[in-house]
Formats: sequence, structure tokens, C-alpha cells
Amino acid sequence: MKIDVLGCGSAFSLQQNTSAIRVFDENQQLLIDCGPTIPRALWQRGGDVNDIDALYFTHIHPDHCSGLTALLNFWKSFQRQKPLIIWAQREQRPVLMQLANLANWPQTSLCFDIEWRDSEPAWQWQGWQMHTAFTHHELPNLALRIEANDQTLFYSGDGRPTPQSIALMHNADLAFQECASATALPAHASHGDFPGCLALYEQLHLPRLGLYHCNDAALPALELACTPWPGLFVSRDGLAFDLSRRAEGCA
Ligand SMILES: [Zn+2]
Ligand SMILES: [Zn+2]
Repeated sequence: MKIDVLGCGSAFSLQQNTSAIRVFDENQQLLIDCGPTIPRALWQRGGDVNDIDALYFTHIHPDHCSGLTALLNFWKSFQRQKPLIIWAQREQRPVLMQLANLANWPQTSLCFDIEWRDSEPAWQWQGWQMHTAFTHHELPNLALRIEANDQTLFYSGDGRPTPQSIALMHNADLAFQECASATALPAHASHGDFPGCLALYEQLHLPRLGLYHCNDAALPALELACTPWPGLFVSRDGLAFDLSRRAEGCA
């Protein structure tokens, strides 16, 4: 399983793209979240309009989903053919459908089919085992665990860890956890913080934990705070990982 960090900035970051990562192997490709600055990051990588098989949305805050319109419009403009699967929370799907409708308005269809699916607690997708769990956030946010070929990825787009989302981090080869602040936030806060992330890194013996979706102002302090911990790092746009090699590579 390979991971490409398209964007890991906070909602209004001046330094980094908004949220999305690409997860792929030789058979399939998944885009998790699609913030407003993500379509250009994808175009900059080249590739084919049929490369991405499916999208997964953690939640529908605009910094995680509003790139959908431009992405679908691009695929329509360049004649994508492959059907697209979109997983989202059932209650949030109507908003995503509005974004999709805008991609080719006033026409009501695209040149490829979209198959809308509900994010369930668990399902299988062509050999990948998917599990979801809620974090604590302003909107319901579903963190995702993907297991494939003895490799495990955890991604929490946004929100403070919960016992349920922490359970999905166990034995992950690579985890991304939202971390808004270098200093502790109140226990009821809807965002993660460095003390909480460090505790998870140590308690779960995570080999690699990427602090994700950090506020720009917190980045210098977070970089400094990570230095004693070899597997703890601040995510950056363009980071690339190949979990089959069990070693981090940077692009
Ligand atoms: Zn959010
Ligand atoms: Zn966000």
C-alpha cells in the first residue's frame, strides 16, 4: 500500500493544501477527502482521469470536501469513463450530491457513473478491509482504518480521538491524526493536541504517527516537540510512504 499526502493543512492554511491523501496499490486507488485546494495538487501529479477508483469522505466540512465539484468537473471535461464509488456518511450524502450536481450543471449527469455508498462500521473493498469510527468533532467525523496485505493505515481527518477511533489505530504501520495545537486543549475540545498524540504514540507503540491538519501557527512548536521521537512527525504536503517496504520515504 502506498500513500501520497496531497494535503495536510488546516482549513485556512497559507502554507499547505487542505485535507486529502491518496492510497493505492497495483490494483486500486482511493482518494480520502478532497479539500478545495486538492484538485490542483492532483493535476500537478499528472496521471490519468481514470486512475482513482473511489473517494472516501471523513465528514463534510468544506476543507475536506469542497474540492469535489472541481474534481468531478475535471473528470467530465477530460472524458473519464470509469465508474466512481463515493463513500460518505448517509446523513451527509445530500450535501455531497449538491457539490456533484454543480460539477456539470445544468446537465444532470456526468460521462461516468457515481455509485454512492454509505460508510459502514466495516466493509471490504477488493481485498482491502475498511473500518470506521467516530472522532469527537463539530460534525460527525469518521476516521478510517485500511488493512491490505498485512499493511495497515489509519487516517483521522479531523477531531479529537475517542476510544473507538483509538481502537482503530492499534498496530497501524502508519497513522495520521489531526493535531490542531502544540499545547493541551480542554478534554471536551473537538480537535486533537500534541500531548494527546504523544500519549497515543507511546502507548500504542506506533511506528509512525503523522500529526495532521495542524494550525499554521502551531507548526514550529510541533516540529520542535517531535524531535525526540523518531516515529512522530509533522505531516507535510508531498510526503510519500510505501508500507510494503516498512520504511519511510519522502518525495
Ligand atoms: Zn472538520
Ligand atoms: Zn478540517
